[in-house]
Amino acid sequence: MGDIGISIPKQRNVALMIRCEHLTKTYNGVPAVDDLCLDIQAGETFGLLGPNGAGKSTTILMLIGLIEPTAGACFIDDLEVAKNPIEVKHRIGYMPEDVGFYATLTAEENLDYSAKLYGMGADKRKERIAYLLDLVGLDNVEKDVGDYSKGMRQRLGLAKALINEPKVIILDEPTANLDPQGVADYRRIIGQVADEGTTVLVSSHILSEVSRVCTSAAILSRGRLVVSGTWEELAAAATGNRENITIHVETHSPMPAFDDPAIISVDYSDHRQKAKIVARSDIRDGIADALLAEGIAVRLIEAQEPTLEDVFLSYYHEEAVL
Ligand code: ADP
Repeated sequence: MGDIGISIPKQRNVALMIRCEHLTKTYNGVPAVDDLCLDIQAGETFGLLGPNGAGKSTTILMLIGLIEPTAGACFIDDLEVAKNPIEVKHRIGYMPEDVGFYATLTAEENLDYSAKLYGMGADKRKERIAYLLDLVGLDNVEKDVGDYSKGMRQRLGLAKALINEPKVIILDEPTANLDPQGVADYRRIIGQVADEGTTVLVSSHILSEVSRVCTSAAILSRGRLVVSGTWEELAAAATGNRENITIHVETHSPMPAFDDPAIISVDYSDHRQKAKIVARSDIRDGIADALLAEGIAVRLIEAQEPTLEDVFLSYYHEEAVL
């Protein structure tokens, strides 16, 4: 797997806000995060992508100091997290997948409690809470948090993560359980937070969620870094290295399973009368021959230039089966 990892060098003149140096966490000898090296610049909106079990949450828990690495280290704003837990806590805001609140308190009361834990004075708390409730669109809501919808809870979770004016905000699967309006609200708020100069780290298993809000990303698989860089760098590296091709096939009767070794993935639809095949080379002739041999009439067979999503799905498929 080491050979597959593509590391794109960053410009060194920009300050690094998040740094992982050979970060490793093992559970019973099995690596959940394996020798991860990652640089995230100050002000970047960065996506941590990977299928379930890839090691995203474990990486985040080490970055916020909730668990300690087995080997290697991670740094926030040049502070080693394991050695400076209090200083790091003051620099980061963290939103887990399920944020906990006091159900019988209002949003304002919940945020006031969090702000007090950071030692913020009364005037500062009032000002910050008013700003954040306006930012997340909860400024005129009087009811207790126990009566909130999922989307409202998520927006309040963002406000809670931002209460201490962090330099870095870390969000673990922020759009899980959200409806489309909730996702749109979340994107708008994250955009505004990023515009104000906060470094944002978002983990997700959904490519489109990350590609729409982040300027750069890393893909993890089985605890290891597969690739990292800006979207342009990732797409260029991926197409340059793989030359994947997407082939659309439509037939008049259901298709068999294809067994060409060049195939990376096949997605069937319309009762297997349509297939989207991602392959390492143009295998249209082979597919046509295989269908003909089965007596299946072809309605359409065409190749398509790889989209960004195809490129990333190919990483997923390759890494997931290794
Ligand atoms: P992701 O967030 O990408 O879904 P995780 O970081 O949660 O991945 O998990 C990575 C791997 O580590 C998984 O195989 C998971 O089962 C394992 N793992 C995570 N936490 C623990 C734990 N506390 N004990 C044992 N194994 C764990």
